[in-house]
Amino acid sequence: MRRKFQIGGIVQGVGFRPWVYQLAQRHHLGGYIFNSTLGVMIEVEGPEQALDGFETALRSEAPPLAELDQIRVEHLEPVGYQKFTIRDSEDAAGQFVLVPPDIATCPDCLADLRDPANRRYRYPFTNCTNCGPRYTIIQDIPYDRPHTTMAEFRLCPACEREYHDPGDRRFHAQPNACPDCGPWVELWDREGMLAQRAEAIDRTRRLLKDGAILAIKGLGGFHLACDAANDDALRRLRQRKLRSGKPFALMAASLEKIAEFCELGPEERATLSGTRRPIVLLARRPVSRISTEVAPGVPTLGVMLPYTPLHHLLFEGGDFDALVMTSANTAEEPIAYRNEEVATRLDSLADYFLLHNRAIHTRVDDSVVRIFEGRERLLRRSRGYAPRPIELGFPAQEVLACGGELKNTFCLTKQHYAILSQHTGDLENLETLEFFEETLAHMKRFFRVTPRAVAYDLHPQYITTRLALAMPGIEKIGVQHHHAHIAACMAENGLREKVIGVALDGTGYGTDGLIWGGEFLVCDYAGFERRFHFRYVPLPGGDTAIRQPWRSALSYLRDSGLAGAPSLEAVPDAQRRVVEDMLVGRVNTVDTSSCGRLFDAVSAILGIRLETTYEGQAAIELEAVAAPGITEPYPYSIDAGIIDYRETIRAIARDDSPREVRSARFHNTVSAAIAEACRRMHQRDRLTDVCLSGGTFQNAYLLSRTAQLLRAAGFRVFMHSAVPPNDGGLSLGQAVIASSRAS
Ligand code: ZN
Ligand code: ZN
Ligand code: FE
Repeated sequence: MRRKFQIGGIVQGVGFRPWVYQLAQRHHLGGYIFNSTLGVMIEVEGPEQALDGFETALRSEAPPLAELDQIRVEHLEPVGYQKFTIRDSEDAAGQFVLVPPDIATCPDCLADLRDPANRRYRYPFTNCTNCGPRYTIIQDIPYDRPHTTMAEFRLCPACEREYHDPGDRRFHAQPNACPDCGPWVELWDREGMLAQRAEAIDRTRRLLKDGAILAIKGLGGFHLACDAANDDALRRLRQRKLRSGKPFALMAASLEKIAEFCELGPEERATLSGTRRPIVLLARRPVSRISTEVAPGVPTLGVMLPYTPLHHLLFEGGDFDALVMTSANTAEEPIAYRNEEVATRLDSLADYFLLHNRAIHTRVDDSVVRIFEGRERLLRRSRGYAPRPIELGFPAQEVLACGGELKNTFCLTKQHYAILSQHTGDLENLETLEFFEETLAHMKRFFRVTPRAVAYDLHPQYITTRLALAMPGIEKIGVQHHHAHIAACMAENGLREKVIGVALDGTGYGTDGLIWGGEFLVCDYAGFERRFHFRYVPLPGGDTAIRQPWRSALSYLRDSGLAGAPSLEAVPDAQRRVVEDMLVGRVNTVDTSSCGRLFDAVSAILGIRLETTYEGQAAIELEAVAAPGITEPYPYSIDAGIIDYRETIRAIARDDSPREVRSARFHNTVSAAIAEACRRMHQRDRLTDVCLSGGTFQNAYLLSRTAQLLRAAGFRVFMHSAVPPNDGGLSLGQAVIASSRAS
């Protein structure tokens, strides 16, 4: 008897072929396996009982990194296969396979790295079929060494033997390498090379210990690294990166180390030490050796564990508690990833450069997650996650969704998959645009997608909008920003019927040409109706107001019949008068229902933050001070589709409680208003499913309180997990909407 299997899903680059080979041997079956652009193709031949045993194991025991989601089986007549072989890969026209994400160093490779008797002792490019670079080095499919940036390294006899030995952990491990044949590291300063290989790593550790800032080439790009306990190094890093307040990510050697400066629950431990190794947001302990310069003004730290052998080697001597490991770039430019950039973009950022000669084909930033209600929630979806698809549960039309302007990702649909790009960054500069276009070209090729429609945000100024409208010969579908947020939440939760959508964020272009951001929709993929929104207030000075929360404060105060607040006296009179004139004369103002600006206003009124140095800072610091255990809200009103916070603003101004209490009461007010609006929408529309989306829901206090009130009122609450609630998730929503609308 003979059986033929065609298997889809993530089955290439995850140790699947060697595993199947061994499985066939175990059941004494003849046949073959090969990778193709259709997926993995297998034929096995032997007694019926052995074939059943093989198929059962295939379906239930596949290696941990493989994700099988389609198995097609054919029963055929035997043809007399004598033995089981692994055949060369095949390329079938128009078909595609899922490219695996990069995988953190596995325990076996880590043991090799630390074993003085092993030939890979302290070798920073150690990997196997269970771990190592994937998406970042793959140039084309099928996934084979000649299609990766490892093609230029010729396997030595020992590595070659492993590569061809079905019993070896490195059997068909495409990036397989060793000190004799693989890439190596070099330490440079501006004058030239200082050291190579093991010596380069030793000197790197000493330089870090001495307070230097190093650019270290990693898996998906360069990090800027320095000792996280060194205030002086951190101040220099902030100056050079032009980043005065935004928190830096840390890398620490072990969970035990992290537990010294952060609170760790079981879910946090699991996510930190899993194969994806994202940055995890953790509550920090009040006292630790970590410099306060790492994350000023917030009670959390973003921490990750080493995910490449090189990272493990940096921590070998136990020289530091943690290293700052931040993307090597200035402001929101894309991460640097080529050795040539040492002389250009990295020159002014780092004192020394730890380089290697394994080229990064696709750059990928570190992902950021938070654990909320026991589940992993993506805040930035990148390394380890991209380009893993999101299962839609229905066949979609092939579309491209361009995403938004900030924290951009784009999305391609193929069959029943939505495939999001990694985080590309803020599309405000040319470098990000190039990154976007080059990643789009890669992904269209990998996944063999020919979009029939392109989805874009309605904002006429977004670069992605202009990009979409300029694409020739393809249907253009404009999608309202908040509708896309809610559709993204629906898609990842498998919802297709009408829902109540609460989309709260800073800025999204409305169908009335105004700036929306406090939106209550009844919607499905086909369309939406706006049932409630936050009362419009004039925003003085457009984008400047986003960086100067005191402007929103002044607008909200005046709208509430108040002339000012004591905290605003810190703003120079002349500046304040200019803005007051703008508000009185309605000059250079735009009306907005933005939730972000409401949080800005309250942050400024409470004297927490009048001006910001990074996006969302005023709201983040407002949340940071909110006292626990306070349940009462301030008054507010809802009438004729408008949620009106004028009474709230007056109450905040009158309240002489500490700002910690006032912040909590304000958060409670917004949650109460959301719950009240949802109750009224339920009365009219009889809907009980509520989707919460938009950047404001990164606020854990607000999310938790809101979900609690809604559940108590009988609603089913859906929130994000697989994609971010911020604009990084927008492209998923655009994609499902466009797919349902495309003609
Ligand atoms: Zn490994
Ligand atoms: Zn070798
Ligand atoms: Fe948004």
